[in-house]
Amino acid sequence: MRLFIAAELPDSIREALAETSAVLRDCVHGRFVASDSFHVTLAFLGEVPGARIPELQDALDVACASHRAFSAQLSELGCFGKRTKATLWQGFQDQAPFASLATDVRSQLTRIGFEFDAKPFRPHITLMRAADLSSGVLPACCQAEGTISYITLFSSDLSGKRPIYTALHSVSLER
Ligand code: ATP
Ligand code: MG
Repeated sequence: MRLFIAAELPDSIREALAETSAVLRDCVHGRFVASDSFHVTLAFLGEVPGARIPELQDALDVACASHRAFSAQLSELGCFGKRTKATLWQGFQDQAPFASLATDVRSQLTRIGFEFDAKPFRPHITLMRAADLSSGVLPACCQAEGTISYITLFSSDLSGKRPIYTALHSVSLER
């Protein structure tokens, strides 16, 4: 199974992202992430045998036990990759609580034998893939604030027309 761990987003943030995405549809060509799929990836695991899921769930529980729910505020749009085939995303004002979670999640996963590349972690929500940004200016993006309360192990099915993410195990952060 193709697996990843991500922070889920509250409705306030989802709604703002959906509005930004709707504005982008009028001015940027590319592949849009469906608004029910927005998330912040903390660790990408790739192909993992289904038999390891219980172990992963335990590791996620341990990693999240020392973290509380926190308030997050959207910031500006950013992009990775080539201007003609970019990944377009929206970031957060304060990256620290996401970075701290990602560090603990990854260190628990490393303990049970998973590996991660050393690239610095950049918390973001992907809005578009293969976005053609060569024509220049991006629209203003919508802002919102909300509470991050759930960290979830997802499976990702890429066999269809669009990726289907399924929540396998969700940890509720303490208030
Ligand atoms: P598609 O690959 O069809 O564009 P997707 O990227 O949304 O769809 P996945 O490739 O399964 O679906 O990725 C699931 C999540 O993990 C996404 O947030 C994606 O950005 C992230 N991800 C995928 N591959 C990696 C990787 N090699 N390193 C870090 N994060 C990754
Ligand atoms: Mg992908």
